[in-house]
Amino acid sequence: MSKQIADIAMIGLAVMGQNFVLNMADHGFTVAAFDREADVVDKFIANDAIGKSIIGTHSVEEMVATLKRPRRVMLLIKAGKPVDSVIEQLVPLLEKDDIIIDGGNSHYLDTTRRYDFLKSKGIYFVGSGVSGGEEGARHGPSLMPGGAIEAWPAIKPIFLAVAAKADGEPCCDWVGPAGAGHYVKMVHNGIEYGDMQLISESYDLMKRLAGLSDKEISEVMGRWNQGFLDSFLIEVTRDILAFNDDGRIPLVEEIMDMAGQKGTGKWTAIDALDKGMPVTLIGQAVFSRCLSALKGERARASKVLSGPTIKPIPASVRKQFIDDLEQALYASKIISYAQGFMLIREAAKEFKWDLNFPSIPLMWRGGCIIRSAFLGEITKAYREDKYLENLLFHPFFRSAIEKAQSGWRKSVTKAVVNGIPTPAFATALSFYDDYKSERLPANLLQAQRDYFGAHTFSILPKYAHDKVKPGKNIHINWTGKGVDVSAGTYDA
Ligand code: NDP
Repeated sequence: MSKQIADIAMIGLAVMGQNFVLNMADHGFTVAAFDREADVVDKFIANDAIGKSIIGTHSVEEMVATLKRPRRVMLLIKAGKPVDSVIEQLVPLLEKDDIIIDGGNSHYLDTTRRYDFLKSKGIYFVGSGVSGGEEGARHGPSLMPGGAIEAWPAIKPIFLAVAAKADGEPCCDWVGPAGAGHYVKMVHNGIEYGDMQLISESYDLMKRLAGLSDKEISEVMGRWNQGFLDSFLIEVTRDILAFNDDGRIPLVEEIMDMAGQKGTGKWTAIDALDKGMPVTLIGQAVFSRCLSALKGERARASKVLSGPTIKPIPASVRKQFIDDLEQALYASKIISYAQGFMLIREAAKEFKWDLNFPSIPLMWRGGCIIRSAFLGEITKAYREDKYLENLLFHPFFRSAIEKAQSGWRKSVTKAVVNGIPTPAFATALSFYDDYKSERLPANLLQAQRDYFGAHTFSILPKYAHDKVKPGKNIHINWTGKGVDVSAGTYDA
């Protein structure tokens, strides 16, 4: 029997698992490494793990036997059924107060279910978002742990040591109960979809409307990366657009314009619909990927559907156009993050999660794909007011949008007039105009619903009188025909 010397075990030695293990070993922790494929373990031990405090194990039993108490077992395996099956194998081998951490991309509802199940067995379960890909896992990921708070003191030293640091602060903190960690990771991924779509629309406008070459757009991205848009995704885009390895055309122009997706953006959009939260930008970013995938249909449509002829921006106003676009991107990004936090706040309300709001943007500040300077401002806003109703109410973001607004509107208008699609920019602007409207045409919508479905409506307080009280459900017989009853359950 092996001695109990390992601080933590890792199950799953694919790209994330191996790199995470190496990262933990670099920080002085002894790690028991296990993968159901013995070859994978042996190869790892004989190569990258050589000379490090990593113990290769060939069965779950052997792995558990190496662990100090309370036992800490982390999973970085394919999400879904594999996680349940590994948990089933672990439960008989673990004892009360031992800890299982799922670091994969699990759906938060699965995490909540597993948390409840393991609680009934006396085992602490932590669902942790892990972001930053291979590079992050190796040198500092963003970590978003949630679940059994009792486990936090035991995993905190390891997680804080291996996490990315931004301005000296670890990009990891306790998120909240049950599935909260995976929830925040899901919204992070949705926001990533939005950021990528917005940057892609900027590139398209600069190319098609301003006639810039990829190299010139790369230079613009480089400049933007020095200012308020400073972020990993802008930096990546700068490098992609400059990549031209065979001296012909930039590689990006040779790539098929059909976007793939693994599903976490879709999860965010579905969850937003379920919660009735208008997370329009992420939703649009998911639909834009879907539309891009209809390549054949788009090609046929391009031959038969008409639109305006593009009038290129004259060189004399190009600089102004690019400055406006920078503002449009910034404002739309603020909307996207404001929407993401609206969704997180709603989830916190629904599940009664006491979430650590200032820490959420801090966890995304380094190590992950959406890392940016701007997240520091969101942390500041929530540190000032943990209960901030919406980011758009905070003076910093209110004034940023005020300043950006003219350029934002001009950019969207130019795109619309020229028939160049900017769905994410446009939906962000529509959301903003909707959100700041005290009166929306939903009065007419309610009248229509009552007309054809007797769904009732309530009256504005200023029009209430003795017989019609505000807040009361009213049904009118709009046509004088039919019976005078209101519908309780029917929905059109
Ligand atoms: P994969 O998502 O490709 O998963 C492969 C790993 O899962 C292998 O170790 C595999 O074991 C294991 N596995 C699959 N089925 C089972 C099973 N039934 N029982 C036990 N183990 C199983 O690996 P990644 O390293 O890319 O990702 C790991 C997790 O981290 C995933 O949930 C992923 O979504 C998430 N993630 C990935 C990121 C990335 O950039 N790749 C970024 C952030 C999170 P075997 O070798 O034996 O087949």
